[in-house]
Amino acid sequence: MYGAILGDIIGSAFEFDRGGKTKEFPLFCEESTWTDDTVMTIAVAEALMEAGRDATVPEIEAACVKSMQKWGRKYPYAGYGGRFIHWVHSDDPHPYKSYGNGSAMRVSAAGWLYDTIERTREVARATAAVSHNHPEGIKGAECTAAVIFMARQGATDEAIAEYVKVEFGYDFSESLDAMRARHAHVESCMDSLPKAMRAFLDGTSYEDVVRNAVSLGGDTDTLGAIAGAMAEGFYGVPEDLKKECLERVPKDMRTVIERFDALIS
Ligand SMILES: [Mg+2]
Repeated sequence: MYGAILGDIIGSAFEFDRGGKTKEFPLFCEESTWTDDTVMTIAVAEALMEAGRDATVPEIEAACVKSMQKWGRKYPYAGYGGRFIHWVHSDDPHPYKSYGNGSAMRVSAAGWLYDTIERTREVARATAAVSHNHPEGIKGAECTAAVIFMARQGATDEAIAEYVKVEFGYDFSESLDAMRARHAHVESCMDSLPKAMRAFLDGTSYEDVVRNAVSLGGDTDTLGAIAGAMAEGFYGVPEDLKKECLERVPKDMRTVIERFDALIS
């Protein structure tokens, strides 16, 4: 989950095209901070650990609702969407057909915990379905987790690209330059997943993938989180960046990250 959290922190300084759409920028600056993407990544990771690896889909969904409400209420000003914050505070939260990229940015833990791609996708679906139950919201989460799973299993980027095309139908043939040329701050899975895939496939290291993602402008923290999560599966995250990550989050989040790390290593 370092990959997603660092991507969020690094991207946070450049949201709404503040970064000039370039790959040349300081990885960390005064504005760099964790946002909703980090809080919800932590929440999902804790939920999946609490539920256990063999949990049923209803058990996973219940654990996700409980954990996302807990963490969302604890850190209410992290930049959530309006409907999601309403969901966080609801006594009876229901999914609201969202296709926002929130389902994809928070799912990364699911990519690391399970032995098969089918189970990985089933759990990813469950983490999304409690709020983002639009087919595109579900798809964004499933795709992100599937890419992490394949990457950490040693699949080539060609194999990953082919799987994503066939299974999820995303078109990520456009170049990063062409994506940069479009001026849009779009927070949907349909917009973010092809961008994250292109950033991931064109990158040469964890850091390079995140630079690709952030250089696209728009929703840079979430693009950084999704592409960064994919890149962690493929390249791992350098130790100095992991250390930087742990120093930049509150202690309660650090505890979850370290617990999760111990579980998967
Ligand atoms: Mg954010």
